[in-house]
Amino acid sequence: MTLYRAHLLWSASLAEVGEVADGALVVDEAGRIMASGPFDEMAARHPGSEIRDLRPHWILPGLIDLHVHLPQYESVAMDGLELLPWLNTHIFPAEARFADASLARRAARRFFRDLLSLGTTTAVVYSTIHQEATDAAFQEAESCGIRAAIGKVMMDQNAPEALSEDTEASLQESDELIQQWHGKAHGRLMYALAPRFAPMCTPALMRGVGTLSEKTGAYIQTHLAENMDEMAWVKKLYPECANYTDVYRRHGMLNGRTLLGHGVHLDTAERAMIRAAGATIVHCPNSNAFLESGVMPLRRWLDEGLSIGLGTDVAGGPTLSMWSEMAMACTVSKLRFALLSEANATVKPVEAFHLATMAAAKGLGLEVRIGSLDKGMDADFVVVDPRLTDPAERIEDTADRVLSRLVYRADPRMVQATFVRGKQCFIQGS
Ligand SMILES: [Zn+2]
Repeated sequence: MTLYRAHLLWSASLAEVGEVADGALVVDEAGRIMASGPFDEMAARHPGSEIRDLRPHWILPGLIDLHVHLPQYESVAMDGLELLPWLNTHIFPAEARFADASLARRAARRFFRDLLSLGTTTAVVYSTIHQEATDAAFQEAESCGIRAAIGKVMMDQNAPEALSEDTEASLQESDELIQQWHGKAHGRLMYALAPRFAPMCTPALMRGVGTLSEKTGAYIQTHLAENMDEMAWVKKLYPECANYTDVYRRHGMLNGRTLLGHGVHLDTAERAMIRAAGATIVHCPNSNAFLESGVMPLRRWLDEGLSIGLGTDVAGGPTLSMWSEMAMACTVSKLRFALLSEANATVKPVEAFHLATMAAAKGLGLEVRIGSLDKGMDADFVVVDPRLTDPAERIEDTADRVLSRLVYRADPRMVQATFVRGKQCFIQGS
């Protein structure tokens, strides 16, 4: 048993945080949180435990990135194009290079290490169409200790020559990877089927994805209503469907384990469909700004009761940092208020933090395992030094103010250590 002594901070609800100023997280050998609370009380209740005094650092639940593309990491920050030309110019050539499995392995190692160094403990990841590269990504995730849902991208129409797949082979390879990895490493590794988006998936592929998800419990991750040209293309390809969301619904891809990236331009009927299916929208504000896709009305859709998490969408977004993503979620909500005079549009750091932890865990159906610091959960947490975000270097301040600085003024060195299932996967300076 180990007691980690620090200021504990977690999301208690959309609008509130919980905290214990001089707290302790009690973690057992299996990497589970046995208890958390005031240090004195925890120390008395667990005599003989090893004590790791982390003061004046703070402990927060690990951050959850619900949408990120591993093979695109090397193509971050390539500015100047909207979604479809950007995919053709920068992204597809980069993804084609993942036919080389050793290149893919090196890229995966760097990618997961950088995620952990930023305090991200869980990531939902797109690989490429390549089975071997995807397998290598799983192996690297397994050895570095991160929690991840990963999926081989699926594209069987309108894709460039080097990235085109046969429908049956695509489903078969995904199924093999599911059998190999879904639920492995004590549930730390999961599979997320990854049909890229409707324009590049045939009805047969989408139906196959829905069936595989039902059969195996694997997640489904895809893109939805991100960009105007993309939406016009979908309308042309699927005229019989009521809207973009209906393309996925009709082909069996909308269920409680579906993660829908973006959803910037959804109408009322689509949002009702998503709510009814229990699917989750992954808001990616950095990407939506970078690729000039639009600004999702986050506040309004939260108020409607939609399940929403956050994703960096690298390389649509230029950074792997979920701190930056939380800041951008707040910032663009302020812009909606300022530019569109949309009443009550703003989202606060405490709310963004909720989306990046508890709400994301719920979207994954993992709210009893991750996203908070409660007893019985897996010990996925991040140790931060808030002084690095504060010109006054205060050791203690109100939780709201500390969180606001962590979000808006994230410092690359502020993450001191990152733990997943009680195992230290990153330490600052290493
Ligand atoms: Zn994406």
